[in-house]
Amino acid sequence: MSNQEHIAIIGNGIAGVTLARHIRKNSNKRISLISDESPYFFSRTALMYVYMGHMKWEHLMPYENSFWKKNRIDLVQNRVVAIHSEENKLIFQDQQEFIYDQLVIATGSIPNKLGWPGENLNGVQGLYSKQDLERLEEFATDAETCKSAVIVGGGLIGVELAEMLHTRNIPVTFLVREPYFWNNVLPKHSAELITKHIQKHGIDLRLSVHLEAIKTDGAGKAKSVIIKETQEEISCDFVGLTAGVKPNIEFLKASEITTNKGVVVDEYFRTNIKNIYAIGDCAERNYSLGNRPPIEAVWYTGRIMGETLAQTLCGNPKKYNPGNWFNSAKFFDIEYQTYGWVFPTPKEGNAHFYWKHETEEKAIEIEYNRATQEFVGINSFGIRLRHEFFDQCLKAGKTISFVIEYLKQANFDPEFFDSYEQEIKNQWKNENRKLTH
Ligand SMILES: Cc1cc2nc3c(=O)[nH]c(=O)nc-3n(C[C@H](O)[C@H](O)[C@H](O)COP(=O)(O)OP(=O)(O)OC[C@H]3O[C@@H](n4cnc5c(N)ncnc54)[C@H](O)[C@@H]3O)c2cc1C
Repeated sequence: MSNQEHIAIIGNGIAGVTLARHIRKNSNKRISLISDESPYFFSRTALMYVYMGHMKWEHLMPYENSFWKKNRIDLVQNRVVAIHSEENKLIFQDQQEFIYDQLVIATGSIPNKLGWPGENLNGVQGLYSKQDLERLEEFATDAETCKSAVIVGGGLIGVELAEMLHTRNIPVTFLVREPYFWNNVLPKHSAELITKHIQKHGIDLRLSVHLEAIKTDGAGKAKSVIIKETQEEISCDFVGLTAGVKPNIEFLKASEITTNKGVVVDEYFRTNIKNIYAIGDCAERNYSLGNRPPIEAVWYTGRIMGETLAQTLCGNPKKYNPGNWFNSAKFFDIEYQTYGWVFPTPKEGNAHFYWKHETEEKAIEIEYNRATQEFVGINSFGIRLRHEFFDQCLKAGKTISFVIEYLKQANFDPEFFDSYEQEIKNQWKNENRKLTH
């Protein structure tokens, strides 16, 4: 065994794997990558495509299985049940002990369960892990064995699950507590656009409702749900729980590591214990960073955190600096991108500019400061925009007028803008004139 420092990483998701790869690039340290989910890293964001038949499981794995041995990254498939930090020791589910010099917690998220009666019945689950996908195959195989499904919670994973079930012709009722789909994140106009789009695909979208309980068939399987507001009983063979996720850190609660919602970390991802760090979905910053939430459960920030911490662990201390916020997703056929910040209602002193194509499902929504006109962020729907353009605008503190004037530069489809550029500019000029007069 080598006498190199031993770094143990719990979690082989994007955060843990990026960290391991970058430590290897920069050092000869011994690396152990521990996971209870799957021996090999896979792209969680593409899980839906396996169920929909667009990809095979093997396609989700970007590295050859030989990659890990070649790069001297030891894969350990086991579940960590306890951390004894005073002895630098992990305890595995099978009671094996595992010694480290430095430890990184990168255990990701788990789907929220909010204490609903029946939430642990068979046929009730979230969509997060490889095992969730396998259970989904079992309980929502096809429309013959699964006559109908209910999804609870209208976020990005919920809409993916709706699309997945829809491709197998399983009728879906979708319970959302907001008045429009994802209205806790999107402003009303665009939330309405997405709401209509989801309904257009035949999803029975119920707005402003809450799940009261899931009822059993008497043999341990879900048979129906009850809606709180109306007491309506909806029969179903499958219930998808997609009311958000939370850090997967229950196993740490008995340890000395400070946790809040997630594992509490500083700018260097250090926990309160000297040789223990946390990155990815499970980490919670103890300091503020612009408008960014303290827990960032998105793919690209997990990657940045892994890259950054690798530098620190290899002797080149580096603070987390993720740059401007961005994200993207898909609501059935509508691609969504966001750069900077567009809040559901404008932050104090800010306003929104919304443009929608007359007939097509294409729109943009911009948040800007009323007094200075500084550009704060943009959401686009059905129009693919270039990241670099908005990144530069945000860094340079450009105005909304500048962004609209040069929007064509940000567009991947210049033909579209040849037709609509003038319309967007005119609408902005009119609104701006009203504001300033
Ligand atoms: C269906 C779906 C679609 C998504 N789509 C997008 C998207 O389009 N864009 C985007 O930005 N984000 C998306 N996300 C979120 C994104 O996938 C996560 O932010 C990201 O995967 C988190 O990476 P991570 O490395 O922090 O943790 P994870 O990927 O969750 O990896 C953590 C690993 O640690 C393992 N683990 C946990 N506890 C233990 C333990 N005690 N012992 C051993 N192993 C343990 C887990 O089993 C898991 O394998 C999506 C998520 C899902 C579920």
